[in-house]
Amino acid sequence: MGRLVTAVMLTSLMACTPGEKEHRRDYAVMGTEAACRIISDDRDLAGEAFDQVAAVFDSVNTLMSTWSADSEISRLNRAPADSAFTLSPWMVDCLHLSIRLNDRSAGAFDVTAEPLMRLWGFYRREGRLPSPMEIAGARKSMGRFYLDDAWGKLTKQADATAFDLGGIAKGFAVKKCEAALRELGFTNALVDLGGNMACMGAPLGKEAWSVGIKDPLRKDQIFAKVELRDESVATSGSYERFVEIDGRRYGHIMNPATGRPAEGLLSATAICKDAALADGLSTALFVLGPAGAKELLNDAYPDVDAVLVIPGEDGEKPTVWITPGLKGRFELLPDYIDSYLLEDGC
Ligand code: ADP
Ligand code: MG
Repeated sequence: MGRLVTAVMLTSLMACTPGEKEHRRDYAVMGTEAACRIISDDRDLAGEAFDQVAAVFDSVNTLMSTWSADSEISRLNRAPADSAFTLSPWMVDCLHLSIRLNDRSAGAFDVTAEPLMRLWGFYRREGRLPSPMEIAGARKSMGRFYLDDAWGKLTKQADATAFDLGGIAKGFAVKKCEAALRELGFTNALVDLGGNMACMGAPLGKEAWSVGIKDPLRKDQIFAKVELRDESVATSGSYERFVEIDGRRYGHIMNPATGRPAEGLLSATAICKDAALADGLSTALFVLGPAGAKELLNDAYPDVDAVLVIPGEDGEKPTVWITPGLKGRFELLPDYIDSYLLEDGC
């Protein structure tokens, strides 16, 4: 027994080298807040890492922001059909991931939902109810492009085909930051870009990062916590961004099958090794709604963990559904136990 205690003490001592401290830098990027935390005894190297993280955020913004007319994505969106557009390697990488997720999610994740976003008024930030004919028109241009991975060229098949990487760009940036940190030799760090997080190793003196999940009904509050170690997490919810039309709120995640904002879930959280996949999947799960999301997780992503917040029917409480892999490391906070039913999907 004594030997066991000593062994346990030794391993926990080894987990943090003397002189190790947490270093932190905050950023304002892509219309949101970001932070990077690094556990290290090397302040200078951490400083270098923070600069590299800033450079990754800048690059992804310059490539993928639809808010800037000069970004690569905006230039691609203006490009005519039938001409090959040369993409930067990170754009090829991100579009390649997006296409795979589109295939595997039966089209729920679709980076060509731009015309729908435009139609519903998300770029003007002023909603308008489109007619069924307008919706059909926007849906016609979706998915009409061809990506040549090897040569890094994309050819649109309709002038109106346009891309919005908002469902994956933040996770993609976080993934690239994580790669940069690992390249510099860091194993305990956290990158957080507006709730898209890569949790590497653990903070000082802990076994895992404890990450809060926002309450979809009171978005400024954390309603649950999950312990993550060498995993990434992302949450999608319509509470994040919406337009109001005739007193009704419409969320910013489009269901490509209907051309209307998705509304089956209050929020969807995806947890897996790859931050870009977590981001894309959280959007896909949200689009698919409770039954479709569970089916996608079961059939195509058995290694991905998820938290689905499902609205209650007929005045019932909403349900928080978690995958079996989260059992023992997911906690609904005491103040919320009475507001939600907790169900684990065994
Ligand atoms: P957030 O932007 O709040 O982190 P998401 O990761 O779910 O949330 O991304 C939502 C964004 O994804 C939308 O604002 C839009 O840019 C884009 N988008 C909307 N519908 C889809 C869809 N069906 N597939 C892929 N991206 C989408
Ligand atoms: Mg997403």
